[in-house]
Amino acid sequence: MAITKFVPLDHTRIPGFPDAPVHLDRAPIKMIDDNGAEFTKHTDTSNLTTAVGITTILFRWSPDALHAFLDIDAWFSFTWQLTISSVCKYEIGRVQNQITIGKLDAEGEKWELMLTYNIGIQEDDDNNNRGKWIPNTAESMLGTTDLTSATQIDTLGKNFVKDLCLQEVWFTSKGRKHELFVEYALMDPFSDGIPMNPHWLYDAPNVGHCTTCDVYQGVKPLQRCGRCGTAAYCCALHQKLDWPVHKTTCNMSLEDRGQMLEISQHGGLVGWDLSQRLEDEDEEEQDGEEAQAKKMSKNPNFVTPQLKRQRQTNSSINMM
Ligand SMILES: [Zn+2]
Ligand SMILES: [Zn+2]
Repeated sequence: MAITKFVPLDHTRIPGFPDAPVHLDRAPIKMIDDNGAEFTKHTDTSNLTTAVGITTILFRWSPDALHAFLDIDAWFSFTWQLTISSVCKYEIGRVQNQITIGKLDAEGEKWELMLTYNIGIQEDDDNNNRGKWIPNTAESMLGTTDLTSATQIDTLGKNFVKDLCLQEVWFTSKGRKHELFVEYALMDPFSDGIPMNPHWLYDAPNVGHCTTCDVYQGVKPLQRCGRCGTAAYCCALHQKLDWPVHKTTCNMSLEDRGQMLEISQHGGLVGWDLSQRLEDEDEEEQDGEEAQAKKMSKNPNFVTPQLKRQRQTNSSINMM
């Protein structure tokens, strides 16, 4: 039985932190290789972790979704959902440092499997948990049964991601619908999280380049999506590759899509309402250890602690 092969994703960076390596569950970021090696139900997955499975799913759907999952500072909550019409819903979610993955019934109301993990934030000599996924034995369930064993949560998590990777849940087809919701800590008007196109989290919507390969209009002629006009592609293949992500945006109501375009127009959703963020920066203009600690990111996915995201001081922001 062949063992699972992986592709390293060492170059993964959270946007805004080009020099800060990240890890997931205290391991270098990597995903399952199903190009160079076959991944089937017979593959030996004893070396597969839940974190690597999640990485595979999110990265293959959209690298931007993986970045947002890692970016605990920017996105208070993150929810990726795949609805398989009249069958079930799969979910990968995070609220601050707590991860929830699992399967819901067709209506999306009842959890059939809910596994939770806390991302460790402590760093001390005895117990270095910083970044580690610690199964949460108080909030995990299989059907109506509480899961109180960390080992059992770990095993069920590995089986869950293996199953999703075998189903290639990053592809779309008739009856499959992907959605991404994020919640910004400062985004009170949208406290349940808003539907977002992952491409617009860190970059403003831009039909002047190919959504898939970034090639600019002028270098290659681009064609806009004929249905919604909010994405442009250099060729039919690049349009097809983006369809699992673009499909939901394309099928949205004009109002919902308009809201996403509006709030992500200044450098992506991450630049939304920077005026508020600049105000709380002023309050931090103090000396001392406490003030210094406030400037540090609380994101344990950074291999080494980092300063918080640099805030833009673009004059256009004051005009918003
Ligand atoms: Zn292209
Ligand atoms: Zn479209």
